[in-house]
Amino acid sequence: LAALLPDLPETLRDLQEFHGHLGPYVVVGLRMGAVGRRELGAYKGLTAEVTCSLKPPMLCVVDGVQFASQCTMGKGNITATEGGEPAAVFRKDGRTLTVTLRPGWRERIDREMSRELEVEQSVYYFEVPEETLLDITFA
Ligand SMILES: [Zn+2]
Repeated sequence: LAALLPDLPETLRDLQEFHGHLGPYVVVGLRMGAVGRRELGAYKGLTAEVTCSLKPPMLCVVDGVQFASQCTMGKGNITATEGGEPAAVFRKDGRTLTVTLRPGWRERIDREMSRELEVEQSVYYFEVPEETLLDITFA
């Protein structure tokens, strides 16, 4: 299917290689991780605490956050905790940043989840404006 989409953004190709497939939740994780990296700076000292279902497909959020924030299980600077709504808390140098999906998106993703459409949906979630998709709170 990727061959039919020559304009698949480079970042999504890399994410697909990293995670094994694309889908809304891994892209949501990428968007969250990108906020953490942009606002707090990757990666020295950056930590991520991800909340999500610990089962796929929502668990894919964790790989998206790892991919974009460079916080990884192997470095021990990311954790995943069971929760119903995907969220990520980033910390660095005493600053805390919480990124959550805006209301309604989780329901929409779960309703529209489709193996056949996962590439197209990934492009959509990659391009949808950040302020439409995510709530970002500094503490
Ligand atoms: Zn996945």
